[in-house]
Amino acid sequence: MQYLDNVFFLILLIAGFGLFGKSLLKIYRNIRLGREINRSDRKSERWETMARVAMGQSRMTARPVAGVLHLFVYVGFVIINIELIEIIVDGIFGTHRFLSTIFGHTFYNFFTATLEVLALLVIVGVVLFFIRRNFYGVKRLTMKELFGWPKNDANWILIIEFALMVAFFTMNSSDFILQQRGVLAAHGSFPISEMTLVPFLEIFSFDSIFLEVIERGAWWFHFVGILFFMNYLYYSKHLHIILAFPSTWYANLDLYGKFNNLESVTKEIKLMMDPNADPYAAPVEGAEEAPSKFGAEDVFDLNQVQLLNAYSCTECGRCTSVCPANITGKKLSPRAILMKTRDRLEEVGRNIDKNGKFEDDGKKLLNDYITKEELWACTTCNACTQACPILLDPLSIIFEMRRFLVMEQSAAPQELNLMMTNVENNAAPWQYNQADRLNWAKD
Ligand code: SF4
Ligand code: SF4
Repeated sequence: MQYLDNVFFLILLIAGFGLFGKSLLKIYRNIRLGREINRSDRKSERWETMARVAMGQSRMTARPVAGVLHLFVYVGFVIINIELIEIIVDGIFGTHRFLSTIFGHTFYNFFTATLEVLALLVIVGVVLFFIRRNFYGVKRLTMKELFGWPKNDANWILIIEFALMVAFFTMNSSDFILQQRGVLAAHGSFPISEMTLVPFLEIFSFDSIFLEVIERGAWWFHFVGILFFMNYLYYSKHLHIILAFPSTWYANLDLYGKFNNLESVTKEIKLMMDPNADPYAAPVEGAEEAPSKFGAEDVFDLNQVQLLNAYSCTECGRCTSVCPANITGKKLSPRAILMKTRDRLEEVGRNIDKNGKFEDDGKKLLNDYITKEELWACTTCNACTQACPILLDPLSIIFEMRRFLVMEQSAAPQELNLMMTNVENNAAPWQYNQADRLNWAKD
Protein backbone atom coordinates (compact mmCIF):
# COMPACT_ATOMS: atom_id res chain seq x y z
CA MET A 1 0.00 0.00 0.00
CA GLN A 2 2.82 2.35 0.94
CA TYR A 3 4.52 1.40 -2.29
CA LEU A 4 1.38 2.26 -4.30
CA ASP A 5 1.17 5.62 -2.53
CA ASN A 6 4.74 6.42 -3.51
CA VAL A 7 4.20 5.46 -7.15
CA PHE A 8 1.01 7.51 -7.33
CA PHE A 9 2.86 10.43 -5.74
CA LEU A 10 5.68 10.16 -8.27
CA ILE A 11 3.27 10.04 -11.22
CA LEU A 12 1.47 13.15 -9.96
CA LEU A 13 4.76 14.92 -9.36
CA ILE A 14 6.08 14.19 -12.85
CA ALA A 15 2.73 15.10 -14.48
CA GLY A 16 2.49 18.36 -12.49
CA PHE A 17 6.03 19.52 -13.22
CA GLY A 18 5.80 18.23 -16.81
CA LEU A 19 2.67 20.26 -17.54
CA PHE A 20 4.20 23.30 -15.88
CA GLY A 21 7.36 22.94 -17.98
CA LYS A 22 5.21 22.68 -21.12
CA SER A 23 3.41 25.92 -20.23
CA LEU A 24 6.71 27.71 -19.59
CA LEU A 25 7.98 26.57 -22.99
CA LYS A 26 4.85 27.98 -24.63
CA ILE A 27 5.39 31.33 -22.92
CA TYR A 28 9.02 31.30 -24.04
CA ARG A 29 8.00 30.49 -27.62
CA ASN A 30 5.39 33.27 -27.64
CA ILE A 31 7.83 35.84 -26.29
CA ARG A 32 10.31 34.88 -28.99
CA LEU A 33 7.74 35.84 -31.62
CA GLY A 34 8.74 39.42 -30.89
CA ARG A 35 11.66 41.33 -32.34
CA GLU A 36 15.03 40.73 -30.77
CA ILE A 37 16.43 43.45 -28.56
CA ASN A 38 19.84 43.52 -27.02
CA ARG A 39 19.63 44.10 -23.27
CA SER A 40 22.71 42.16 -22.25
CA ASP A 41 24.73 45.27 -21.33
CA ARG A 42 25.53 46.53 -17.77
CA LYS A 43 25.07 43.11 -16.24
CA SER A 44 26.00 44.02 -12.67
CA GLU A 45 23.48 46.88 -12.73
CA ARG A 46 20.86 44.46 -14.02
CA TRP A 47 21.50 41.93 -11.25
CA GLU A 48 21.36 44.72 -8.69
CA THR A 49 18.09 46.05 -10.13
CA MET A 50 16.51 42.58 -10.10
CA ALA A 51 17.63 41.94 -6.51
CA ARG A 52 16.36 45.32 -5.34
CA VAL A 53 13.07 45.52 -7.24
CA ALA A 54 11.92 41.91 -7.70
CA MET A 55 13.37 40.23 -4.62
CA GLY A 56 13.55 43.27 -2.34
CA GLN A 57 10.14 44.63 -3.43
CA SER A 58 11.62 48.12 -3.17
CA ARG A 59 8.96 49.80 -5.30
CA MET A 60 6.04 48.21 -3.45
CA THR A 61 6.65 50.42 -0.44
CA ALA A 62 5.44 53.49 -2.34
CA ARG A 63 2.02 52.38 -1.04
CA PRO A 64 3.01 51.10 2.42
CA VAL A 65 -0.13 49.18 3.46
CA ALA A 66 -0.37 47.18 0.24
CA GLY A 67 3.44 46.90 0.22
CA VAL A 68 3.63 45.33 3.69
CA LEU A 69 0.72 42.95 3.03
CA HIS A 70 2.28 41.93 -0.27
CA LEU A 71 5.56 41.29 1.53
CA PHE A 72 3.77 38.96 3.99
CA VAL A 73 2.22 36.98 1.17
CA TYR A 74 5.32 36.95 -1.04
CA VAL A 75 7.94 36.06 1.58
CA GLY A 76 5.63 33.70 3.44
CA PHE A 77 4.45 31.86 0.40
CA VAL A 78 7.92 31.49 -1.11
CA ILE A 79 9.53 30.28 2.11
CA ILE A 80 6.70 27.93 2.98
CA ASN A 81 7.18 26.29 -0.37
CA ILE A 82 10.68 25.31 0.71
CA GLU A 83 8.67 22.73 2.54
CA LEU A 84 7.84 21.33 -0.87
CA ILE A 85 11.32 19.79 -0.84
CA GLU A 86 10.37 17.89 2.31
CA ILE A 87 7.00 16.88 0.85
CA ILE A 88 8.68 15.55 -2.30
CA VAL A 89 11.25 13.48 -0.39
CA ASP A 90 8.63 12.17 2.06
CA GLY A 91 6.26 11.38 -0.82
CA ILE A 92 8.82 9.45 -2.85
CA PHE A 93 10.53 7.56 -0.04
CA GLY A 94 7.69 7.28 2.45
CA THR A 95 9.65 9.10 5.17
CA HIS A 96 8.08 11.41 7.74
CA ARG A 97 9.43 14.96 8.08
CA PHE A 98 12.63 14.16 6.25
CA LEU A 99 14.23 17.58 6.88
CA SER A 100 14.38 16.87 10.63
CA THR A 101 17.13 14.30 9.93
CA ILE A 102 19.12 16.92 7.98
CA PHE A 103 18.51 19.95 10.19
CA GLY A 104 18.72 18.25 13.60
CA HIS A 105 16.17 18.62 16.38
CA THR A 106 16.76 22.22 17.46
CA PHE A 107 17.04 23.80 14.04
CA TYR A 108 14.09 21.80 12.70
CA ASN A 109 11.96 23.09 15.59
CA PHE A 110 13.01 26.63 14.74
CA PHE A 111 12.34 25.99 11.03
CA THR A 112 8.82 24.59 11.51
CA ALA A 113 7.90 27.29 14.03
CA THR A 114 9.07 29.98 11.58
CA LEU A 115 7.00 28.44 8.80
CA GLU A 116 3.95 28.54 11.05
CA VAL A 117 4.41 32.25 11.78
CA LEU A 118 4.89 32.97 8.07
CA ALA A 119 1.82 30.91 7.17
CA LEU A 120 -0.21 32.97 9.62
CA LEU A 121 1.08 36.19 8.02
CA VAL A 122 0.11 34.83 4.59
CA ILE A 123 -3.42 34.18 5.87
CA VAL A 124 -3.62 37.71 7.33
CA GLY A 125 -2.34 39.12 4.01
CA VAL A 126 -4.71 37.22 1.73
CA VAL A 127 -7.77 37.85 3.90
CA LEU A 128 -7.09 41.61 4.00
CA PHE A 129 -6.34 41.66 0.26
CA PHE A 130 -9.62 39.84 -0.41
CA ILE A 131 -11.61 42.31 1.70
CA ARG A 132 -9.83 45.27 0.14
CA ARG A 133 -10.31 43.99 -3.41
CA ASN A 134 -13.97 43.08 -3.04
CA PHE A 135 -15.48 45.34 -0.40
CA TYR A 136 -13.25 48.37 0.06
CA GLY A 137 -13.87 50.01 -3.31
CA VAL A 138 -10.26 50.82 -4.29
CA LYS A 139 -10.82 52.51 -7.66
CA ARG A 140 -7.92 50.93 -9.54
CA LEU A 141 -9.16 47.46 -8.48
CA THR A 142 -12.71 47.98 -9.65
CA MET A 143 -12.17 49.47 -13.10
CA LYS A 144 -13.96 48.00 -16.06
CA GLU A 145 -10.89 46.35 -17.62
CA LEU A 146 -10.91 44.01 -14.58
CA PHE A 147 -14.52 42.87 -15.04
CA GLY A 148 -14.89 39.14 -15.60
CA TRP A 149 -11.85 36.88 -15.64
CA PRO A 150 -9.20 39.33 -14.27
CA LYS A 151 -11.27 39.97 -11.14
CA ASN A 152 -12.13 36.29 -10.68
CA ASP A 153 -8.51 35.34 -11.28
CA ALA A 154 -7.31 37.69 -8.54
CA ASN A 155 -9.89 36.26 -6.13
CA TRP A 156 -9.15 32.65 -7.03
CA ILE A 157 -5.47 33.14 -6.29
CA LEU A 158 -6.27 34.53 -2.85
CA ILE A 159 -8.69 31.66 -2.16
CA ILE A 160 -6.14 29.03 -3.29
CA GLU A 161 -3.41 30.56 -1.13
CA PHE A 162 -5.79 30.65 1.83
CA ALA A 163 -6.82 27.00 1.30
CA LEU A 164 -3.17 25.91 1.03
CA MET A 165 -2.32 27.60 4.31
CA VAL A 166 -5.34 26.10 6.08
CA ALA A 167 -4.26 22.65 4.81
CA PHE A 168 -0.77 23.37 6.14
CA PHE A 169 -2.11 24.15 9.63
CA THR A 170 -4.48 21.17 9.55
CA MET A 171 -1.59 18.88 8.67
CA ASN A 172 0.61 20.30 11.43
CA SER A 173 -2.15 20.20 14.05
CA SER A 174 -3.14 16.57 13.48
CA ASP A 175 0.54 15.65 13.23
CA PHE A 176 1.20 17.40 16.55
CA ILE A 177 -1.59 15.50 18.35
CA LEU A 178 -0.35 12.20 16.87
CA GLN A 179 3.16 13.06 18.06
CA GLN A 180 1.79 13.78 21.56
CA ARG A 181 0.11 10.37 21.58
CA GLY A 182 3.35 8.68 20.48
CA VAL A 183 1.83 7.48 17.18
CA LEU A 184 4.34 9.54 15.19
CA ALA A 185 7.92 10.40 16.14
CA ALA A 186 8.24 13.87 17.70
CA HIS A 187 9.64 16.31 15.13
CA GLY A 188 9.01 20.03 14.87
CA SER A 189 7.48 22.85 16.82
CA PHE A 190 4.01 24.19 15.92
CA PRO A 191 3.21 27.24 18.08
CA ILE A 192 0.39 28.65 15.91
CA SER A 193 -1.30 25.27 15.44
CA GLU A 194 -1.08 24.63 19.17
CA MET A 195 -2.95 27.85 19.85
CA THR A 196 -5.56 27.48 17.11
CA LEU A 197 -6.46 24.21 15.40
CA VAL A 198 -5.06 21.76 17.98
CA PRO A 199 -7.57 22.80 20.72
CA PHE A 200 -10.33 22.74 18.09
CA LEU A 201 -9.47 19.18 16.95
CA GLU A 202 -9.16 18.01 20.56
CA ILE A 203 -12.77 19.03 21.25
CA PHE A 204 -13.88 16.10 19.08
CA SER A 205 -11.57 13.51 20.73
CA PHE A 206 -10.91 11.86 17.37
CA ASP A 207 -9.18 8.49 17.56
CA SER A 208 -5.65 8.25 16.16
CA ILE A 209 -6.70 6.45 12.97
CA PHE A 210 -9.09 9.25 12.07
CA LEU A 211 -6.44 11.84 12.91
CA GLU A 212 -4.02 10.05 10.59
CA VAL A 213 -6.64 10.29 7.84
CA ILE A 214 -6.93 14.05 8.50
CA GLU A 215 -3.14 14.46 8.53
CA ARG A 216 -2.66 12.47 5.31
CA GLY A 217 -5.65 14.21 3.67
CA ALA A 218 -4.24 17.66 4.47
CA TRP A 219 -0.76 16.56 3.33
CA TRP A 220 -2.09 15.34 -0.03
CA PHE A 221 -4.31 18.41 -0.41
CA HIS A 222 -1.30 20.63 0.23
CA PHE A 223 0.83 18.75 -2.31
CA VAL A 224 -1.85 18.55 -5.04
CA GLY A 225 -2.79 22.18 -4.29
CA ILE A 226 0.78 23.33 -4.92
CA LEU A 227 0.88 21.44 -8.25
CA PHE A 228 -2.49 22.93 -9.20
CA PHE A 229 -1.37 26.44 -8.22
CA MET A 230 1.80 26.04 -10.26
CA ASN A 231 -0.14 25.03 -13.37
CA TYR A 232 -2.81 27.64 -12.83
CA LEU A 233 -0.15 30.35 -13.07
CA TYR A 234 -0.07 30.01 -16.86
CA TYR A 235 -3.63 31.34 -17.06
CA SER A 236 -3.21 33.96 -14.38
CA LYS A 237 -1.78 37.41 -13.75
CA HIS A 238 0.15 35.61 -11.02
CA LEU A 239 2.75 34.64 -13.58
CA HIS A 240 4.48 37.72 -12.19
CA ILE A 241 5.76 35.67 -9.25
CA ILE A 242 8.14 34.11 -11.78
CA LEU A 243 8.37 36.65 -14.62
CA ALA A 244 8.94 39.71 -12.42
CA PHE A 245 12.53 38.46 -12.15
CA PRO A 246 13.44 38.41 -15.86
CA SER A 247 11.32 41.53 -16.44
CA THR A 248 13.32 43.54 -13.93
CA TRP A 249 16.59 42.08 -15.23
CA TYR A 250 15.77 43.10 -18.81
CA ALA A 251 14.23 46.43 -17.76
CA ASN A 252 15.16 49.61 -19.55
CA LEU A 253 18.05 51.06 -17.53
CA ASP A 254 18.03 54.32 -19.47
CA LEU A 255 15.47 57.06 -19.18
CA TYR A 256 11.97 55.72 -19.63
CA GLY A 257 10.11 57.61 -22.30
CA LYS A 258 13.27 58.43 -24.22
CA PHE A 259 12.42 58.01 -27.87
CA ASN A 260 14.62 55.46 -29.59
CA ASN A 261 15.50 57.19 -32.83
CA LEU A 262 15.96 54.75 -35.69
CA GLU A 263 19.43 54.96 -37.14
CA SER A 264 18.11 54.45 -40.68
CA VAL A 265 15.70 57.38 -40.32
CA THR A 266 18.36 59.63 -38.80
CA LYS A 267 20.57 58.85 -41.79
CA GLU A 268 17.79 59.82 -44.22
CA ILE A 269 17.27 63.14 -42.45
CA LYS A 270 20.99 63.88 -42.48
CA LEU A 271 21.08 63.17 -46.20
CA MET A 272 18.18 65.57 -46.73
CA MET A 273 19.90 68.31 -44.77
CA ASP A 274 23.40 67.91 -46.17
CA PRO A 275 23.65 69.26 -49.75
CA ASN A 276 27.04 67.57 -50.24
CA ALA A 277 25.95 64.10 -49.08
CA ASP A 278 26.13 61.28 -51.60
CA PRO A 279 22.81 59.40 -51.51
CA TYR A 280 24.42 56.47 -53.37
CA ALA A 281 27.36 56.06 -51.00
CA ALA A 282 27.97 52.48 -49.84
CA PRO A 283 26.43 51.83 -46.39
CA VAL A 284 28.80 52.05 -43.44
CA GLU A 285 29.73 48.61 -42.16
CA GLY A 286 27.68 47.64 -39.09
CA ALA A 287 25.06 50.34 -39.75
CA GLU A 288 21.50 49.44 -38.86
CA GLU A 289 19.35 48.30 -41.80
CA ALA A 290 16.04 50.06 -42.34
CA PRO A 291 13.36 47.82 -40.75
CA SER A 292 10.84 46.11 -43.02
CA LYS A 293 8.10 47.83 -41.06
CA PHE A 294 8.22 50.94 -38.90
CA GLY A 295 6.61 50.63 -35.47
CA ALA A 296 4.19 47.98 -34.29
CA GLU A 297 0.89 46.89 -35.75
CA ASP A 298 0.77 43.49 -34.11
CA VAL A 299 2.59 41.57 -31.38
CA PHE A 300 5.19 40.30 -33.88
CA ASP A 301 6.40 43.90 -34.29
CA LEU A 302 6.96 44.50 -30.60
CA ASN A 303 10.25 43.53 -29.04
CA GLN A 304 10.70 40.50 -26.81
CA VAL A 305 11.02 42.55 -23.62
CA GLN A 306 7.69 44.25 -24.36
CA LEU A 307 6.07 40.82 -24.78
CA LEU A 308 7.72 39.63 -21.57
CA ASN A 309 6.26 42.73 -19.89
CA ALA A 310 2.79 41.78 -21.11
CA TYR A 311 3.08 38.37 -19.44
CA SER A 312 4.57 39.87 -16.26
CA CYS A 313 1.95 42.53 -15.56
CA THR A 314 0.39 42.04 -12.11
CA GLU A 315 -2.69 44.05 -13.14
CA CYS A 316 -2.25 46.09 -9.96
CA GLY A 317 -3.31 49.27 -11.78
CA ARG A 318 -0.76 51.54 -10.08
CA CYS A 319 0.10 52.83 -13.55
CA THR A 320 -3.50 53.56 -14.48
CA SER A 321 -4.19 55.26 -11.15
CA VAL A 322 -1.56 57.91 -11.93
CA CYS A 323 -2.22 58.22 -15.67
CA PRO A 324 -3.43 61.78 -16.39
CA ALA A 325 -5.25 60.62 -19.50
CA ASN A 326 -7.18 58.02 -17.53
CA ILE A 327 -7.81 60.37 -14.60
CA THR A 328 -9.35 62.93 -16.94
CA GLY A 329 -11.73 60.38 -18.41
CA LYS A 330 -9.91 59.36 -21.60
CA LYS A 331 -10.17 55.82 -22.84
CA LEU A 332 -6.50 55.06 -22.17
CA SER A 333 -5.34 52.78 -19.37
CA PRO A 334 -1.66 51.72 -19.43
CA ARG A 335 -2.58 48.55 -17.53
CA ALA A 336 -5.10 47.70 -20.27
CA ILE A 337 -2.40 48.25 -22.91
CA LEU A 338 -0.38 45.42 -21.37
CA MET A 339 -3.43 43.23 -20.72
CA LYS A 340 -4.57 43.55 -24.32
CA THR A 341 -1.07 42.84 -25.60
CA ARG A 342 -1.03 39.64 -23.55
CA ASP A 343 -4.53 38.68 -24.78
CA ARG A 344 -3.46 39.09 -28.39
CA LEU A 345 -0.20 37.23 -27.81
CA GLU A 346 -2.07 34.32 -26.26
CA GLU A 347 -4.50 34.30 -29.18
CA VAL A 348 -1.54 34.10 -31.57
CA GLY A 349 -0.06 31.30 -29.43
CA ARG A 350 -3.30 29.28 -29.61
CA ASN A 351 -3.33 29.82 -33.38
CA ILE A 352 0.19 28.34 -33.60
CA ASP A 353 -0.77 25.42 -31.32
CA LYS A 354 -3.68 24.63 -33.60
CA ASN A 355 -2.04 25.10 -37.01
CA GLY A 356 1.61 24.33 -36.34
CA LYS A 357 2.49 27.86 -37.47
CA PHE A 358 0.72 31.19 -37.39
CA GLU A 359 -2.14 31.36 -39.89
CA ASP A 360 -3.40 34.85 -40.64
CA ASP A 361 -6.56 35.33 -38.58
CA GLY A 362 -7.39 38.74 -40.00
CA LYS A 363 -6.78 40.39 -36.65
CA LYS A 364 -4.12 42.75 -35.34
CA LEU A 365 -3.17 44.21 -31.99
CA LEU A 366 -3.91 47.64 -33.48
CA ASN A 367 -7.64 48.30 -33.82
CA ASP A 368 -8.80 44.79 -32.81
CA TYR A 369 -7.37 45.18 -29.30
CA ILE A 370 -5.88 48.65 -28.87
CA THR A 371 -7.61 51.55 -30.54
CA LYS A 372 -6.11 54.70 -32.02
CA GLU A 373 -8.13 56.71 -29.52
CA GLU A 374 -6.28 55.03 -26.66
CA LEU A 375 -2.90 55.54 -28.29
CA TRP A 376 -3.33 59.23 -29.02
CA ALA A 377 -4.73 59.92 -25.54
CA CYS A 378 -1.26 59.32 -24.08
CA THR A 379 0.60 62.48 -23.04
CA THR A 380 3.90 60.50 -22.82
CA CYS A 381 4.27 61.90 -19.31
CA ASN A 382 5.95 58.73 -18.04
CA ALA A 383 3.94 58.53 -14.83
CA CYS A 384 2.94 54.93 -15.56
CA THR A 385 6.51 53.67 -15.85
CA GLN A 386 7.48 55.51 -12.68
CA ALA A 387 4.62 53.90 -10.76
CA CYS A 388 5.12 50.32 -11.88
CA PRO A 389 6.41 48.13 -9.03
CA ILE A 390 8.27 45.83 -11.42
CA LEU A 391 9.61 48.34 -13.97
CA LEU A 392 7.25 47.47 -16.82
CA ASP A 393 7.01 49.87 -19.71
CA PRO A 394 3.54 50.21 -21.31
CA LEU A 395 4.60 53.58 -22.74
CA SER A 396 7.12 51.92 -25.06
CA ILE A 397 4.29 49.87 -26.63
CA ILE A 398 2.27 53.04 -27.12
CA PHE A 399 5.31 54.67 -28.78
CA GLU A 400 5.79 51.77 -31.18
CA MET A 401 2.14 51.63 -32.17
CA ARG A 402 2.06 55.37 -32.74
CA ARG A 403 5.21 55.06 -34.81
CA PHE A 404 3.38 52.56 -37.01
CA LEU A 405 0.40 54.88 -37.38
CA VAL A 406 2.60 57.82 -38.33
CA MET A 407 5.26 56.19 -40.47
CA GLU A 408 3.33 53.38 -42.13
CA GLN A 409 -0.19 54.74 -42.32
CA SER A 410 0.28 58.51 -42.11
CA ALA A 411 -2.61 58.28 -39.70
CA ALA A 412 -1.64 60.84 -37.09
CA PRO A 413 -4.29 63.28 -35.79
CA GLN A 414 -4.72 66.40 -37.90
CA GLU A 415 -2.88 68.65 -35.43
CA LEU A 416 0.20 66.44 -35.53
CA ASN A 417 0.13 66.13 -39.31
CA LEU A 418 0.10 69.90 -39.57
CA MET A 419 3.05 70.19 -37.19
CA MET A 420 5.01 67.52 -39.09
CA THR A 421 4.36 69.22 -42.42
CA ASN A 422 5.66 72.46 -40.92
CA VAL A 423 8.82 70.72 -39.71
CA GLU A 424 9.31 69.25 -43.16
CA ASN A 425 8.76 72.54 -45.00
CA ASN A 426 9.95 75.15 -42.52
CA ALA A 427 12.30 73.15 -40.28
CA ALA A 428 10.14 74.44 -37.45
CA PRO A 429 6.81 73.35 -35.96
CA TRP A 430 5.10 76.61 -36.94
CA GLN A 431 3.57 77.70 -40.20
CA TYR A 432 6.23 80.31 -40.89
CA ASN A 433 9.90 80.22 -41.71
CA GLN A 434 12.56 79.79 -39.05
CA ALA A 435 14.00 83.17 -39.98
CA ASP A 436 10.77 84.85 -38.86
CA ARG A 437 10.81 83.33 -35.40
CA LEU A 438 11.77 86.47 -33.56
CA ASN A 439 9.41 88.77 -35.45
CA TRP A 440 7.20 88.90 -32.39
CA ALA A 441 9.93 90.79 -30.51
CA LYS A 442 10.56 93.46 -33.12
CA ASP A 443 8.35 96.13 -31.62
S1 SF4 B 1 2.84 58.06 -20.34
FE1 SF4 B 1 0.81 57.91 -21.29
S2 SF4 B 1 -0.04 56.01 -20.52
FE2 SF4 B 1 1.70 56.54 -19.20
S3 SF4 B 1 0.78 57.70 -17.51
FE3 SF4 B 1 1.43 59.20 -19.03
S4 SF4 B 1 -0.40 59.53 -20.30
FE4 SF4 B 1 -0.74 57.63 -19.16
S1 SF4 C 1 2.13 47.83 -15.77
FE1 SF4 C 1 3.02 47.70 -13.73
S2 SF4 C 1 1.83 49.21 -12.55
FE2 SF4 C 1 0.67 48.78 -14.40
S3 SF4 C 1 -0.75 47.17 -13.82
FE3 SF4 C 1 1.05 46.17 -14.71
S4 SF4 C 1 2.36 45.74 -12.95
FE4 SF4 C 1 0.84 47.22 -12.25
